[in-house]
Amino acid sequence: MFPEISVTRTTSPRTKPIPGQSLPFGQYFTDHMFIMDYVEGQGWIHPRIEPYGPMMIEPSAMVFHYGQAVFEGLKAYRCADGSINLFRPRLNYERINLSDERLVIPHLDEDFCVYATRELVRIDQDWIPSGDGESLYIRPFVIATDPYLGVRPANTYRFMIILSPSGAYYPQGINPVKIYVEDKYVRAVRGGTGFTKCAGNYAASLIAQDIAHKKGFVQVLWLDGIEQKYIEEVGSMNILFVIDGKLVTPALNGSILPGITRRSCIEFARSIGMEVEEKRISIDEIIDAGKSGRLTEAFGSGTAAVISPVGELKYEDTTLTINENKIGPVARLLYDTITGVQRGVKEDTLGWTIKV
Ligand SMILES: *Cc1c(COP(=O)(O)O)cnc(C)c1O
Repeated sequence: MFPEISVTRTTSPRTKPIPGQSLPFGQYFTDHMFIMDYVEGQGWIHPRIEPYGPMMIEPSAMVFHYGQAVFEGLKAYRCADGSINLFRPRLNYERINLSDERLVIPHLDEDFCVYATRELVRIDQDWIPSGDGESLYIRPFVIATDPYLGVRPANTYRFMIILSPSGAYYPQGINPVKIYVEDKYVRAVRGGTGFTKCAGNYAASLIAQDIAHKKGFVQVLWLDGIEQKYIEEVGSMNILFVIDGKLVTPALNGSILPGITRRSCIEFARSIGMEVEEKRISIDEIIDAGKSGRLTEAFGSGTAAVISPVGELKYEDTTLTINENKIGPVARLLYDTITGVQRGVKEDTLGWTIKV
């Protein structure tokens, strides 16, 4: 049995976005949030659902100074029959524990976190948008709360879940994007925090993204932090390629985030007999495969977009156009399969979803 979650319902419901109007990502928040605190010696205590709103936290809270913060991202989907799907939520909580361990944040009970997610989504289910491609984004996170300025792991933490109704990632259909291969800055290094969803990774990646935007690119492709030669990720997505008909993606090496969408692509591809290779891939190998016609597709994978085709890669003085800037058949199949399972319109043969 799980600890009881006390619920305080809002008496002043927030204004919901208007159905049918374009819904931005991550700007609206629902009526309630889940909170649980950690106190050394007592563990995670006082699980509760409260009205969403600002909270009191001391300016000296350690998270503001030394960045002990981790997060997750997943979605709830409204199905045509009115039921609500979550996509592999337990994997998000297994991953938050990987992040927690690296940042010396106490372990969370994954099953309880899934239970808390379901309770919160159920309470705010009227906020799940049901338009094409829309969903309820779920953001669990942990922050260090000790009011203390010494550098050490905190003794107190707060775990929270907030919910944000979000619009379709592709309101105009899937268009491949232009990607800048980043050869100056790096996202992660061996022995660092690349495999975690810790807040600092994102702060450190903003400058490259900013420069790429100014140059007219949508995202950057990150190379490894040591030789700046091997492919890691694209923006905050994993990257997959189709080379000689095989699905090829960088192996998880400690500096790459182990994406759940990446994993789902691999599992599905294998289930239909497609060959999958997880290995170290150099940028030169990709450029060569592109020039010789062996590289037929490249795409990012992540919860937000699911699949994001890459139409153009710019590396130093080379510009490589991939699949004539169109979405390819493998990207299309993976996108249709995963989104179909998420929304309950395709049979969930691999057991990926649970109902709220
Ligand atoms: C979250 C994230 C991904 C994608 O993970 P999913 O579980 O598929 O959403 C990939 N790379 C980075 C850096 C991320 O933060």
